[in-house]
Amino acid sequence: MPQKIPATLIAGDGIGPEIVATTVAALDALGAPFEWDPQIAGLGGVQATGDPLPAATIASIRRTRLALKGPLETPSGGGYRSSNVRLREEFKLYANLRPARTIIPGDRFENIDLVVVRENLEGLYIGHEHYIQIDDDPHAVAMATGVNTRQGSRRLLEFAFEHAAATGRKRVAIVHKANIMKALTGIFLETGLELYERKYKGRFALETVIIDACAMKLVLNPWQFDVLVTTNLFGDILSDLVAGLVGGLGMTPGANIGADAAIFEAVHGSAPDIAGKGIANPTALLLAAAMMLEHCRLHELAARLRKGLSETLNVDGVRTGDLGGKSTTADFTRALLARLAKA
Ligand code: NAD
Repeated sequence: MPQKIPATLIAGDGIGPEIVATTVAALDALGAPFEWDPQIAGLGGVQATGDPLPAATIASIRRTRLALKGPLETPSGGGYRSSNVRLREEFKLYANLRPARTIIPGDRFENIDLVVVRENLEGLYIGHEHYIQIDDDPHAVAMATGVNTRQGSRRLLEFAFEHAAATGRKRVAIVHKANIMKALTGIFLETGLELYERKYKGRFALETVIIDACAMKLVLNPWQFDVLVTTNLFGDILSDLVAGLVGGLGMTPGANIGADAAIFEAVHGSAPDIAGKGIANPTALLLAAAMMLEHCRLHELAARLRKGLSETLNVDGVRTGDLGGKSTTADFTRALLARLAKA
């Protein structure tokens, strides 16, 4: 058995512990390639230590540079700052990789295989917002500042282009709004075009598309795209759009990759409405674990996990309520482990 890879494991809040348990059991069935360091964050962190991102969790990820994370609860409005955003900042997780691939056939869109690469640290997400008072209205004018840097754009575009080349993708589209936001998204477009000409020409085709047209084209004919790379806010919106093409957030994994670490997670949240009921769908986190295996170059294990998952859903027809089935998380886990044992 090759040496185990140290990795931080955050069970998370709500349904997190339930879907993490299924995922760890599936990885165990594949030979337990990771040596887990269990840590807490989110509401669990607040309850145990008063901090949604405890120092021990940060220290663990700094050591392992690799984490699998269940969803973390963030209160809306007031309360503590999102641990997810803090993790992105702390570990400079500049790339958000969101693949959307059809697993269950027969939905509105068949055979979808798209990847959205979103810039995760810059743009309109930096949070520089303020109001200007006029007369007695303190919120008469609202302002936000977006910041995109050439260096930040280049490292994200380079990540996307490397990913496209390494995974044999045929086409990359840079999504922008440089006709209107000439500076803010123009710098991203210009950097991408220059980088492609200098380093990637001939390895895949490059096109550019304006965000609004891109949204329409994705709904009319999603198969015309392959990899989409874009700035923070556009990427946030497009990655949910493509999740909708393959059955919603419950089927979509995400990876946050950066200079100092890589953190893999399901795209959905902690689903407090169904937490503890034993009916959560673990598919998205299992797909995140497959991405984590690929990140660690354990491609054969990732392929076995993906195959077992697809067979559980499509051959055995074991599906949780969100997918129109009647199975519990425990039924799903049993069926998946049986499939993995056969593989
Ligand atoms: P949510 O994704 O938790 O839930 C939306 C709906 O989808 C709910 O009805 C839920 O029951 C259902 N759902 C989600 N995942 C499911 C699964 N695996 N199986 C079956 N059904 C599932 O979104 P929300 O309710 O807006 O957010 C709840 C909490 O999660 C909030 O505190 C939010 O901040 C947090 N959140 C965390 C992350 C993260 O950690 N990456 C992402 C999104 C939201």
